[in-house]
Amino acid sequence: MICKFVPDIYTKSIYTIDYKMLKKQKIKCLIFDLDNTIAPLTLKRPDKKLIDLFEELKDMNFKIYIVSNSIKKRVEPFKNILGVDSAYLSMKPLLRKYKKIFNINNYKDNQIAVIGDELINDVWCANRMNFVSIFVNPIGTKEYVSTKIGRFFENIIIEKLTNKKLFRKGKYYD
Ligand SMILES: [Mg+2]
Repeated sequence: MICKFVPDIYTKSIYTIDYKMLKKQKIKCLIFDLDNTIAPLTLKRPDKKLIDLFEELKDMNFKIYIVSNSIKKRVEPFKNILGVDSAYLSMKPLLRKYKKIFNINNYKDNQIAVIGDELINDVWCANRMNFVSIFVNPIGTKEYVSTKIGRFFENIIIEKLTNKKLFRKGKYYD
C-alpha cells in the first residue's frame, strides 16, 4: 500500500526531467499537473520558459495533457497558449480523468507519465494507473488550502517512506 506512494522518478522540477530518457523508455504521453508543477499560483499564464519547454516536448512528439483540480478559468490560458489538451476540476486523487485519457488513446499504461508536485494527487494516482510517476518540488510557496491539507498527510506518508528507506526528501533519482 505505502509503496504506491513512491515515485518512479524524483527530480527538482519539470526543467530537470530527462525527457530524452523518457523517449527512450517509449513514453508517448505526458500528463502535467498545473499548480506548482508547471506554474506557481501567482502566474496567470505561461511564461516564456514554459512555452519553450512545451514547444520542445511537442517537437519530440510527446502527446501532452494538463490535468488540474483547478477551475476552467485558471486552466484555460495554459491550455490555449501552450496548445495542449487539458482537464479542469479533475477531482484528483480520483482517477476519472486519467482513465478517460487512457481510454481515448491507444497507449499502454507504461507509455504514459504523470508529472506533479503532490504525492497523493499526482504520484499515488499515476501509480494506481500503472503510469510512470514523476515527482517534482513545488515551484511556488503559495498553496491552496486544500493543498495545505494534502501536505499534512503527505508529510506523514513521507515520514513512513523515509523510515522504510523507500524515499527521502531531497534525494533525487531517475
Ligand atoms: Mg500541484
